[in-house]
Amino acid sequence: MKKMICIVCPKGCEMQVDVNDGISVVTGNACIRGKEFAINEILHPMRTFQSTVKTIFPELPMIPIKTDDVVPKEYLFQIIEEIAGIEIKDKLKCGDIIIQNILGTSVNIVSTVDMYLYF
Ligand code: SF4
Repeated sequence: MKKMICIVCPKGCEMQVDVNDGISVVTGNACIRGKEFAINEILHPMRTFQSTVKTIFPELPMIPIKTDDVVPKEYLFQIIEEIAGIEIKDKLKCGDIIIQNILGTSVNIVSTVDMYLYF
């Protein structure tokens, strides 16, 4: 049995998941979304990646970034390596793509800040 807290909504249901021969039994969830979250978390966990990268601009030497969708959890360390050497040389708006199709996932790394607000 594995215990987990559903993070799909603020209610935060505490769930228990039994996995036997590929069949998952979920209890403690108040709705079907919790069951779906629990099964995905066991079989194929996904996460949104968030971090910061350097810029060439002294007024804003680091900017926050994130993936524009969830990626497989096992890719997170590879994404950290991919962004390690990045230095932003152009001003970006919120949502502008920094890396397209990161690791072939069809997910992009995007800016989460409008740099024009700082200059
Ligand atoms: S199981 Fe449903 S009600 Fe409970 S935290 Fe998850 S989404 Fe919210």
